[in-house]
Amino acid sequence: MSETASMKTARMHEVGGPLLIEELEIPQPRPDEVLVRVRACGIVPNLGNVLANWTNWFPYMPLPPFPASFGLDPAGEIAAVGSRVRGLRAGQRVYVNPGRSCGSCRHCRRGEPIACRSYAFSGYFGFDRKALDTFVDYPYGGLSEYMTAPASAVVTLPDNVSFEQAARFGYIGTAYSALRKAKAGPSTTVLINGGSGTLGLGGVVSALAMGVPRILCTGRDQGLLDEVRALSPRRIETFAIGQGSIASWAKSRTDGEGVDAVIDCLGPGAEQATFLDALGSMRRGGRTVNIGAVAGDVPINIHWLMDNNMQLICSAWFTTDEGQDMADMAGTGVLDLSCFEHHCYPLSEVNTAISGIAVRHGGFSNFVINP
Ligand SMILES: [Zn+2]
Repeated sequence: MSETASMKTARMHEVGGPLLIEELEIPQPRPDEVLVRVRACGIVPNLGNVLANWTNWFPYMPLPPFPASFGLDPAGEIAAVGSRVRGLRAGQRVYVNPGRSCGSCRHCRRGEPIACRSYAFSGYFGFDRKALDTFVDYPYGGLSEYMTAPASAVVTLPDNVSFEQAARFGYIGTAYSALRKAKAGPSTTVLINGGSGTLGLGGVVSALAMGVPRILCTGRDQGLLDEVRALSPRRIETFAIGQGSIASWAKSRTDGEGVDAVIDCLGPGAEQATFLDALGSMRRGGRTVNIGAVAGDVPINIHWLMDNNMQLICSAWFTTDEGQDMADMAGTGVLDLSCFEHHCYPLSEVNTAISGIAVRHGGFSNFVINP
């Protein structure tokens, strides 16, 4: 590749402004990095919030510096590898975990990169001002023809997992990691609160893959819930939010005991009462993992949690290792991704895609940019 080779990338120059398609020099991978030719990048419903509202809603979570490149969930082919990369090669099909950490703090060194104070999502936002250092090293998100990534962030894709399917890995992985933390498996009943949305449906397909025999699923829209149930009618039961108590329903389905695990996947703007209702469906000794977007100071009876030996866990994103689990499960058919409907746009129509995501077929829709 010549040093003057250029690429197209989509960048935002001011909060809430449109993404502009610009020509930039293709970055070169440093010794421990790969250069990826991006073929698909998923966009999630929250991207519009990040672009327009993040600096007001969460001023402590920085965006990449302007002009800012976005794109959370990239998949493509390795175009080049750095001089010290031995285990990956050009031409391999990959998903890039956007989670970036410093690599040298005590958390990174003991294999817990998500605990790193510099942790940031490349092409999305960071969790602390220290993330600004991370964006210096990784300025390009997936809404670019090329991007660099540390070799440690790469998930290799089996041939039968499409780039569009891999571009959905972010929220599926978030739900998969939550289910692992909840110890979900063949002997558990799991309630997925908000199971028909983009995050929640990732939880449903992951729970099916993990052998969970009974999945109780709530959502606002009965029509969407019917479609979720159709994925596995013998294993999935549904309940429409607003039609009564979630906890009472869950207990009525478990001999009055409650479920082993609750995964909360409610979206931004959901009521705290809906979260608390689902929390109440846990059995004694159960676990709830929150990966949803319920905001503010939620009043939780911690004495009740303690008396009942319950755990409330919050979880952000997933590790590259867990991403590889998903790719391998999808490759063998254990994780069935066939329910997702891909809505594909070229990079030049990225703004149309972001605004168009408001009208979607619940979590079934998968909005993808093909740079
Ligand atoms: Zn670190």
